[in-house]
Amino acid sequence: MTPDELKERISEDGVEFIYAMFVEMHGKPCAKLVPVSAIDDLLEVGAGFAGFAAGPLSQTPADPDVLAIPDPSSYTQLPWQPNVAALQCDATVEGELWPYAPRVILQRVMEKAAEQNLVLKAGVEAEYSLLHRNEDGSFRPADERDTSEQPCYDARGLTVMLDHLTTVSRHMDAMGWGNYANDHEDANGQFEQNFEYADALTTSDRLILLRLMMHTLARRQGLYATFMPKPFADKTGNGLHTHLSLWTADTDEPLFHDDEDTRDLGLSSMAYSFIGGILDHAQGLTGIVCPTVNSFKRIGVGPPDSGATWAPSYVAYGGNNRTQMIRIPEGGRLEVRVPDGAANPYLALAALLGSGLDGIARDVDPGEPNVDNLFALSLDEIQQRGITALPPTLLHAMDALVADDTLRSTLGAGRDGDYVDYFAEVKRAEFRAINDQVSSVELDTYLTLM
Ligand SMILES: [Mg+2]
Repeated sequence: MTPDELKERISEDGVEFIYAMFVEMHGKPCAKLVPVSAIDDLLEVGAGFAGFAAGPLSQTPADPDVLAIPDPSSYTQLPWQPNVAALQCDATVEGELWPYAPRVILQRVMEKAAEQNLVLKAGVEAEYSLLHRNEDGSFRPADERDTSEQPCYDARGLTVMLDHLTTVSRHMDAMGWGNYANDHEDANGQFEQNFEYADALTTSDRLILLRLMMHTLARRQGLYATFMPKPFADKTGNGLHTHLSLWTADTDEPLFHDDEDTRDLGLSSMAYSFIGGILDHAQGLTGIVCPTVNSFKRIGVGPPDSGATWAPSYVAYGGNNRTQMIRIPEGGRLEVRVPDGAANPYLALAALLGSGLDGIARDVDPGEPNVDNLFALSLDEIQQRGITALPPTLLHAMDALVADDTLRSTLGAGRDGDYVDYFAEVKRAEFRAINDQVSSVELDTYLTLM
């Protein structure tokens, strides 16, 4: 979209204000509200931010402004506040794209893929919890009667939240995302609303807006929406199952499909190599796609009340089998089940793409698909099969991330060194800040024992 086309569209839509948006490491949606009378300045100069104040962007208080330059093709009128439209921006500093801005990082990896005539398309299943805050500060499901042990797909739970769910559905369609399913998920108060896949950048931009929309709509109802990976220890966590496929950049031909696949999963040899790359880099990758202390309470843990976590514990792939880290739901695409609701989609898709491209470059064979129910196998049986576990904590994942040269080169470098080192520094501090607290569980376990 050219600047003139954009201005015409803004006027047709009756939009009065623009959110000039970008995200920092955590995926926090940062915005400046810009009246459309100032659109020329916004497009030419960008919106100015004190980068240090925004969040982790490897900026100091002494640095000059981050100028966020809008990407006109990301223009989206926001149906829940239709006089406002969002423009996703690329952060620049002194005229150069800032290499610690997640959207910039993803575009650089996509440019490398484009040099090989490849485009990554991605679809994400953004599970979220809709919660009510009790007077004592604790949280319960938005619907107080949503207490059954297996609430998944319950039409009654869906019906109670019908106004909210149908509003989200209509908004998704108004934004051109193609909502195709909505359900009550496996935890009390947990929902999922699906929209069509698109190129990795578009899907990332949409996920940032989806989270913003959910927070806004929940708040209007006096509720809380959260994508936090594991809000309750005894309930299923919020995953971000991520469906991936590569396509040719010039002719938009799918490259992951092959009906002649001898393993009978409908995948091409390129898809298998891509899987092999993701499995090879799984330890470090987990640190990017499961980027919080809380993330590791969703993966690699025992079953919640509903009977299964639906989250992987081990580095393995299989067919239409939800106990695997990578599931092949049908020919032509793969589903990575590790990412969670805390994932920054730009960084997650950059890291997944970089890992997959490395698998293609090295022609990696991931071996035969695993056909077990991995939730049911004992640790001995897992070890006998030569299957490794995902990292147990954020700290382990950070050690793996900084040791992974492919992820290091994928996520790039800037003024202050490699992005993986900066990411690990921020995340190790996050781990310490939480781990240094003395929890009630520790008191219950040790106080009278010692
Ligand atoms: Mg789900």
